[in-house]
Amino acid sequence: MPVNLSAYLSLKKELHHRSATLVAVSKTKPVEDIEALYAAGQRDFGENYVQELCEKQLRLPADIRWHFIGHLQRNKVKYIAPFIHLIHGVDSESLLKEIDKEGRKNNRIIDCLLQMHIAREETKFGLDNAELTELLVKLPNYPNARVVGLMGMASFTTDENLIRSEFHSLSRTSQTIRTSQTIQTLSMGMSNDFRIALEEGSNLVRIGSLLFGEREKINGA
Ligand SMILES: *Cc1c(COP(=O)(O)O)cnc(C)c1O
Repeated sequence: MPVNLSAYLSLKKELHHRSATLVAVSKTKPVEDIEALYAAGQRDFGENYVQELCEKQLRLPADIRWHFIGHLQRNKVKYIAPFIHLIHGVDSESLLKEIDKEGRKNNRIIDCLLQMHIAREETKFGLDNAELTELLVKLPNYPNARVVGLMGMASFTTDENLIRSEFHSLSRTSQTIRTSQTIQTLSMGMSNDFRIALEEGSNLVRIGSLLFGEREKINGA
């Protein structure tokens, strides 16, 4: 299925109005699809498998800003540390510590988002508010892993009220921690729920299928 350029252009316009960043989620899609969006001006791309990301990063232009949006295992941080633009799914101190260590090795500061658990489902990763509070006081220990905001995924449901209430609560949490200039990003919203997310205050959306078409169900992605 070809990349949907008209959907891309109208989405870009809509997000520009709201000063929100678009991360084009290209997981499972070939480099040719990424090149097509790149040619149309897109620079932020999201992937959720380390090996796939590293292979694509080698083959594609160096000015792409790569976002890691999946669940990151500690032993894989080293592979993406040299180039990653933003790691969205940090949900433990041990992962933050590893990112800090690899950031220092690579002589760079790696931007991160703390992933919050907002969905009803048990399976989704993320911190609760108490764990967030605990982790926030420890951030100064990890200067090479810079927390710039929060990320969350709503329940997988057609119940828009539930989705809205989950985004709303994440947005409230994000307001309370936006005390410093560095913590400003709120990553929420995917193809099926990004409009609700924007209405609730998201400033970064992660959109895959709307741009690239439906994915084959491989590796459970
Ligand atoms: C796959 C994925 C997306 C994009 O999902 P679409 O429904 O295709 O837009 C966004 N965020 C995360 C964390 C993902 O894993």
